Amino acid sequence: MVIGQIVAALHALTTPRFTPLLNATGVILHTNLGRAPVSDVTATAMQEAAAGYVSLEMQLNTGARGGRMAELHTLFRALTGCEAALVVNNNAAATLLVLAAVLREGRTEVVLSRAEAVEIGGSFRIPDILRQSGATLVDIGTTNRTYLRDYESAITERTAALLKVHTSNFRLSGFVQQTPARELVPLADAHGIAVIDDVGSGTLVDPARYGLATEPTLPQAIAGSAHLVCASGDKLLGGPQAGIILGRAEWVARCAAHPLARAFRADKATLAGLAATLRHYLTNEHETQVPVWRMIATPVMALRERCAQWDTVAHAAGIPTTIVDSRATVGGGSLPGEILPSVALAIDAQTARTAGTTLDALATALRTGTPAVVPHIADDQLLLDARTIHPRDDAALVTALIAAWHYATQATAHKSAL
Ligand SMILES: *Cc1c(COP(=O)(O)O)cnc(C)c1O
Repeated sequence: MVIGQIVAALHALTTPRFTPLLNATGVILHTNLGRAPVSDVTATAMQEAAAGYVSLEMQLNTGARGGRMAELHTLFRALTGCEAALVVNNNAAATLLVLAAVLREGRTEVVLSRAEAVEIGGSFRIPDILRQSGATLVDIGTTNRTYLRDYESAITERTAALLKVHTSNFRLSGFVQQTPARELVPLADAHGIAVIDDVGSGTLVDPARYGLATEPTLPQAIAGSAHLVCASGDKLLGGPQAGIILGRAEWVARCAAHPLARAFRADKATLAGLAATLRHYLTNEHETQVPVWRMIATPVMALRERCAQWDTVAHAAGIPTTIVDSRATVGGGSLPGEILPSVALAIDAQTARTAGTTLDALATALRTGTPAVVPHIADDQLLLDARTIHPRDDAALVTALIAAWHYATQATAHKSAL
C-alpha cells in the first residue's frame, strides 16, 4: 500500500507535466497554453542558444566585450525606426522598469488617463505597477474622455512622465475621446519629461490587413516619437515571452542603467529567439513562418478542406463527427470581440450520449491522451477548431480523437456495467 503510493509519487515526479499538446480551442494566443508558439527557425535558435555557448557579450572579430543587445538593437532599428532597444523578461517587467527609470529626485508623479488605469489580467493592474515603481499616480480625465488640456493642466514641477496604456483587452465605444501619445510628445518635450507608450501586443503588422480591428503597431508608436515604447514579445509579435523597450537613445539608456534592468534581464535563449522571429519580418516571411500570423492568415477554405479529411478518417473509425462553422479568436488579451471565421470538427452532446459517453468525459480523454488535445466545448458541442492546429499535426489529431472516443465510450460503458 505504502510502496504503491511511493511508486506512484515517483512516477508523477519523473513524468514531465509540461507536455506539448494540440490546441484545438481556436484561441490563437491562449495564455493558459503558453501564448504564442514560435516558428521552427526560432525554436532551433533558442534550442542552440540554450544548449551551448553563444557570442552573447563578445565581439568575435576582436574578442572584445560586446553589448548583449547589439543584434536586437539593429533589428528593431531596421523594423521600427527606433533609436535604441532593450529587452527584458516580459512587458509587465518592461512597464515597471520604464516607470522606475523615469523617476527623478522631486519628480515622481506620472499622469495617466482614467480610461487607461486598466487591469491586463491576473495581478497586473497599471495603478499597482505605478505604485510599485515608486511613482505617484495623477489620475486625469474621465472614464470615456481625456483631452490634451487634461494632461496640460496636470503637469507640475513634480511630473516625471505622461503614461499611455493601450486598452488591450476591452474596447470603449460611443462618446469617447483619447489623446494619442504623438499629441502628448510636444507637451512633454517642452517640460523635459517623457511620454511612455505601452502598446501591449507590440505587433509589427496591422491585423486590419486580415479583416480584424486595427492595433497600434511598433513602427507607428515609434513614428509618434514617444520617448519610451513598451510591448510584449509573445502576443502578436509571435515570438518568445519578452518585454520590449524601444525609444529614444538617452531614455532607453536610462532604463538599461537602472538596477531593475539586471533583475529583469532576458536570457540568451530569449534574445536568440526574439532575433530569429524579427528576421522573419525583415525578410517579409512572417505570414508563412510566424505561427500566429500563419494561423490568422489561413483562408477558411483551406481549413474546411482539412476538416473534411479529419471527418472522413473519423467516420471510417465509426465516430459520428460533423463539420461546422466556428469562430476562432486571437486571444491573449488582444483584439477583444474580434472573430476569425473558422471551421471545426464537432461532436454534439446527444450523439455522445447515444454512444454512452458525455462531452466532458470525451474532453478529459482528449486532454489526457497522447498527444494531449485541448478541445473547445460550446453550445452542447465538442469542437476541434482547425485554425489553431498545424497541418503537420492533422494525423496526430485524428489518431488522438479516435483513441479518446474509444476510451470515453468504453470507460463509460464499463462504469455503467459496474
Ligand atoms: C499584455 C500587456 C501587458 C503585460 O505584458 P506581459 O508580456 O504579459 O507581461 C502590459 N501592458 C499591456 C497594454 C498589455 O496588453
